[in-house]
Order: sequence, then C-alpha cells, then structure tokens
Amino acid sequence: MFEKSVKAFDEAKKVLPGGVNSPVRAFKSVDMNPVFIDHGAGSRLYDIDGNEYIDYVLSWGPLVLGHAEQSVVSALEASVSRGTSFGAPTEIETDLAELVIRRVPSVEMVRMVNSGTEATMSALRLARGVTGRNKIVKFEGSYHGHADSLLIKAGSGVATLGLPDSPGVPAGIAENTLTVPYNDLVALRVAFEHFGADIAAVIVEPVGGNMGCVPPVAGFLEGLREITAEFGALLIFDEVMTGFRVDYNCAQGKFGIEPDITCFGKIIGGGLPVGAYGGRREIMEQIAPSGPIYQAGTLSGNPLAMTAGLETLKQLSVDDYVEFERKAARLLSGFELAAKKYGIALSTSHVGGMMGVFFTNETVVNFETAKTADTVMFARFFKKMLEQGIYLPASQFETWFLSTAHTDADIDATIAACDRAFAELVRE
Ligand code: PMP
Repeated sequence: MFEKSVKAFDEAKKVLPGGVNSPVRAFKSVDMNPVFIDHGAGSRLYDIDGNEYIDYVLSWGPLVLGHAEQSVVSALEASVSRGTSFGAPTEIETDLAELVIRRVPSVEMVRMVNSGTEATMSALRLARGVTGRNKIVKFEGSYHGHADSLLIKAGSGVATLGLPDSPGVPAGIAENTLTVPYNDLVALRVAFEHFGADIAAVIVEPVGGNMGCVPPVAGFLEGLREITAEFGALLIFDEVMTGFRVDYNCAQGKFGIEPDITCFGKIIGGGLPVGAYGGRREIMEQIAPSGPIYQAGTLSGNPLAMTAGLETLKQLSVDDYVEFERKAARLLSGFELAAKKYGIALSTSHVGGMMGVFFTNETVVNFETAKTADTVMFARFFKKMLEQGIYLPASQFETWFLSTAHTDADIDATIAACDRAFAELVRE
C-alpha cells in the first residue's frame, strides 16, 4: 500500500536530516514510514501510491478551506503571472493588514513576516524593547516556534520526540525563560512575585494546541490579563494556531480578552509561508523604521503569500465557525461512543475547528495531564486509521483540524473507521 512512499523516504533520508524538513512529518513517534503526498483536493489528500485520505492535519492548520480551494487557486494564478516578489511595497499588504485589524479586536497595526516562529520571536523582541525587561514566561507544553527563548519545555514535535530542552540553546538565553503549568494562575503569580520587575511578557496559546488541544479553564485568560497588567508586563497571545480558526474574531474575540501583542501564522497565509504580529499603535510604532526595534524580511509581505491569506480570510464567514463547532462535536461524540462500547480510555476536547483526542481517562488541562495519555495506544490507533484512509497528526500531542470542505459524510466515515480501529485494538 505504501511502496512508493517507502522508496521516496529512503531517498529523502540520504539528503534531508531524518528525511524531512520538519520533525513531526517523519512519523517517528508512531514508528511508521511517512506517506509522501502527491496532491490535495477539498478534505482529501492523495499520496504517491494513489491512496486517498480524509485529512485532519490540513498542513498543521492553515488549510481552513481545504486543499486547492478554487478561489484561492484562481487568485494565486492571477497573482503569480504578475511576478513573485518585489521587495517593495504592494497594496495587497495593506489590504490584508486592514482585514486583520477589522477582525481582531486588540490589533491596530500589523507587521507581516514569513512564519509563526518569526512572529513570536519578533513579538518577544518588541516586548523586551518596549518594557526594557529581559525575562519572559511561557507555559509548559506550549509551542511557539523554534526561537532560542521559546524552545524551553516546549510542546509539538519537541514533546513528541521527548526533547524538552534542545541542545544549542545558550544557558544565558534559557535562564530568561520562566515556565509554569498551563491553566495555573497560582504558579504564574508565584513567578511574578519572584521576578515581576524583570518580566517583559507572558506568551500564551489562548487555546493550547501543541500538547493536543487543551482549552483554557474558566478565568485563566482573564487572570493572565490581570496579573500582567498588575506587574507592568505585556500579554502576548500566540494565535498562530487559534487565529481565524477558533472564531471569526480569533480566540481573543471568542473569550473577550485583549492582549497587548498578537502573533499570527498558518491561516493568515492560506497555505503559503506567512506570519504576522500586531497590537496597539503605540507598541507597534516602536518597530523600525517608525521606531528603534529592528526586524526585517526580504520576502515579508510577499505578494503570493498575501494573496492566499487575503482570499482565505475573505471566504470565511461567522457561520463557518458555528459549523466547525457542530462538526467537531459530531466527530468527537462518535469517538466517545465507540470508546465506551469497547472500554477504551478516551478524553476529548474541542474549540471551534481544533480538536483533541487523548487516550486517557483524565481530563486534560495541562502538559502533566496530557502526558497521562497512552502514546503506544495512540500509535496503534494512528496506523489503523491511516490504513483505512484517515490522515491524522502523527502524534498524541498534536491538534486535529477541520476545514469548510469536510462534510458530514467525511465525519461519519471517520467515526466508522474509528469504530473498526477500536474493535481491532481491544481484540489484539
Ligand atoms: N506558535 C504556535 C501556537 C504554533 O502552533 C506554531 C506551529 N505549529 C508556531 C508558533 C510556529 O509556527 P511556524 O511553524 O510557522 O514557525
């Protein structure tokens, strides 16, 4: 079933470390050969062996409209024939910025970059520059990209591969990053009581997405806003994953909390490499050339990337988010029923089109509880789903995504596959 992918992976491993350009793609934690993709269409992925999958990875979030959505493809075709990059201003950069500002309550100005990592890295520099302080607080099991300051007790592939503190991050940088458990305001307050005068910012995923999907408990985001304000630190919402995914107005719109700086990525680029950071005017005007804090990019604001992002955001309506909630609930209640039927420990969560499926009886509220999940069971489940044409993230600690292209029939087919997988898992 996977002969061509096996051969392609062997070739790739000769020239790419681990055969991939980003670790979780290698299927290492599920102990399988990754499938190599030929193309995508709507909710479907097709690999080079001709297998078809219903895709719940969606390029790790960006493809909220599904693969090769027609309006995005047409806009890109029109754009590419006019040139791929100018390194000079174009009007579409302003168009996308204006749209983001209209949708996101706390954002008055935006700077475009090329990835989520660049967005968070630049937001930290801005927060440090504005406050004149060095320390930052992040939450255990959260992932904010691979910048030195943020690769401490991180989630996503770092958690999957069990590499909490990467070699190559200088101790002098690591010591300025404080980590506390997600959803734990008491621990955060203790950190501020010890180091408050040195803390530039708290960076948070307003819905945890890189230890699986972990929603904020009631009062958590409000508490972050209060504590940061009390100690004169900035609050950074990393909405790289949640932005335009959990709500038309992003997580901050959904939960009614205004951060000082917001980071974007994934959906804002509609499948092309884009990140952005934004916030209140007086903060953003500290960035060069209007202010002294330096940050730049040869390809930042690239016309193709802006086109894909703008077209994607334009297609999304408030109703789409109602549908994401409904479809996620339908999928997960099907999984829960199957788990009950076969006596499998399963805990699920969802916020908008983000979903978490954990093989544990515990309610998952932070990285400690996420780690109670049975990763061996997950790996066996993953393989059985893949073989039935369901493409899931290849790790227990990743979020699953829905697109507007996913139909109820897709979801019902996925539930049926889950039922068969569970039946086999308890039999073996
Ligand atoms: N922040 C969050 C919340 C993310 O989920 C990710 C990537 N999954 C990043 C930052 C980094 O984004 P990128 O991979 O585009 O650098």
